[in-house]
Amino acid sequence: MSFKPDGLVIVVSGPGGVGKSTIVDALVKRDANLWLSRSWTTREQRSGEAPDAYKFVTREQFEKHIAQGGFLEWTDFLGNLYGTPTPSAPEGKDTVLEIEVDGAQQVKRLNNQALLLFVLPPSRQEQKSRLHGRGDPEQKVEKRLRKAEDEEPIGKAIADYVLINDDLATTVDEMSRIIDFERKQRLI
Ligand code: ADP
Ligand code: 5GP
Repeated sequence: MSFKPDGLVIVVSGPGGVGKSTIVDALVKRDANLWLSRSWTTREQRSGEAPDAYKFVTREQFEKHIAQGGFLEWTDFLGNLYGTPTPSAPEGKDTVLEIEVDGAQQVKRLNNQALLLFVLPPSRQEQKSRLHGRGDPEQKVEKRLRKAEDEEPIGKAIADYVLINDDLATTVDEMSRIIDFERKQRLI
């Protein structure tokens, strides 16, 4: 199987709480040529989380979709399933996937031209305070921080670019510049 749409495939990955969703939302608002794929998940909606942040489904619905071959990639992340339904960006748009590192590796295998942007927090302490600030319960914060220790070396090794999300506006600007540069490179 391969996944090689006409447009660019941009994978934004990084540990939990680093700011991926926040960055990607800002990018998609700014750049009308980007199309954000909406993932499926079996986890519960967080309080305050947008109802369309994911397609929230039961494990049964998710497993049925796997059996039907409906996912480009999927994974088990800390006990919940997350997956990218086979994407179909509107004509002329580039696809953005906001996924964890196992999914990013799967996408790279399906399309080695996919652009992988890996985002790191300025420090573990700052990541922790962002997770708390978002309202994650203590136990989930600890699990995500431990998971980050495994994810980061892999993410750094497979990434095309590594960014540190210190100031949000700066990160969004940097990502935007990278995407513009990569678009031009692919026209050469
Ligand atoms: P992720 O999608 O990587 O799990 P989120 O986008 O949910 O992370 O961000 C986690 C929390 O950190 C949110 O409350 C968000 O508003 C905040 N945040 C994101 N980027 C920054 C930043 N650069 N500086 C401070 N807080 C940030
Ligand atoms: P959260 O529960 O914080 O929303 O997401 C947990 C992790 O799953 C994050 O790293 C997020 O990027 C990742 N994720 C979200 N959607 C997908 C997906 O469709 N596939 C994969 N592999 N990971 C996803």
